[in-house]
Amino acid sequence: MSNSNYIETKLIHGGIDGDKVTGAVNVPIYQTSTYKQNGLGENTGWEYSRTGNPTRAALESLIAELEGGVAGFAFASGMAATSTVLSLFKQGDRIIISSNVYGGTFRVLDKVFKNLGITYSIEDTTDLKTLESKITPDVKAFFVESPANPLLTVTDLAGVASVAKKHNILTIVDNTFMTPYLQRPLELGADIVVHSATKYLGGHSDLVAGLAVVNSKELAERLAFTQNATGAVLGPFDSFLLIRGIKTLGVRLDRHTENAENIARYLEKHEAVKHVYYPGLPTAQGYEINKKQAKNGGAMISFELRENYDIKKFFKALTLVSLAESLGGVESLVCHPATMTHASIPKDIREKVGITDGLIRLSVGIEKVEDIISDLNAAIDVAKEA
Ligand SMILES: *Cc1c(COP(=O)(O)O)cnc(C)c1O
Repeated sequence: MSNSNYIETKLIHGGIDGDKVTGAVNVPIYQTSTYKQNGLGENTGWEYSRTGNPTRAALESLIAELEGGVAGFAFASGMAATSTVLSLFKQGDRIIISSNVYGGTFRVLDKVFKNLGITYSIEDTTDLKTLESKITPDVKAFFVESPANPLLTVTDLAGVASVAKKHNILTIVDNTFMTPYLQRPLELGADIVVHSATKYLGGHSDLVAGLAVVNSKELAERLAFTQNATGAVLGPFDSFLLIRGIKTLGVRLDRHTENAENIARYLEKHEAVKHVYYPGLPTAQGYEINKKQAKNGGAMISFELRENYDIKKFFKALTLVSLAESLGGVESLVCHPATMTHASIPKDIREKVGITDGLIRLSVGIEKVEDIISDLNAAIDVAKEA
């Protein structure tokens, strides 16, 4: 535990800091599967690395401190974190998910957990009154994201959590897009936070990892049991890399968001752009709620080019910004939700919810903002049809 009240310091000194044995300022990579026992029933507290590993434990205590939770858990991917959390439920339970949760979360519920008798329904979590009316006795949890992909829809997390508490159900928040540096759902009343640490927490597009944090001892015991029983743990080397990434999260996100605010304002004024989705713009859906629950609007922007711009030409003409899946790395990335992340949704449904063919999602990196803007500008010029 760090003694600081400031997250900037906790990012660097939180959890288990350094190595007591040698004084090394970094937690060593304990690349071991097992630990020697001095006699029957005499162990060092470490028995087998699926159950516990000191490098992973350092990361787990770090994320618990950052999110303000009771315990943290590290997994082999964001989906492993989510799946392990979903494994806390049983046959007959139903989970209400927001209408735009991450596609992989929808897929694992629809194609894996549904077969095991854990069902789901999709609701608009931005409308608390309607959401509350959808609660039936089998509903055991809300699973929400804010802002959510790809239209950066903001959900009132404290509002959802208070509805959940009233009905004795759990609130699970996927906090990947914001990270604890910008938003801490447990402080807003949520019970469980999950992360794809592959994104901002890792921050360098060089690692796949997931994290979960819980707000009670009871949930901590259940999740520790499930993590060990199902076994999708993060390895020691990746745990080390993730700790390393988290140390610079604050400075990275300061630059990411400063760049994003500039780019959002630039795009908003551009004649080629029909609409900008960015929770940091005062004109955005949920701007006030986001301002209340998060430090700023984050660094994900979606925008829609007008119909007379050729989207294929736009993507081809980019030279600095890469066309790729994923987000949250130091480099700027764009993707085309209609044909990439949301391709499985039929076109008419996609269009209805705003995921049009002209929609572009931008993960703003930490390059010099002038370079990102001039790359976007040049590509928009090329995309303009004569
Ligand atoms: C990427 C992502 C996930 C899945 O994480 P993986 O590390 O790819 O398994 C879950 N939620 C959100 C919001 C994501 O962006």
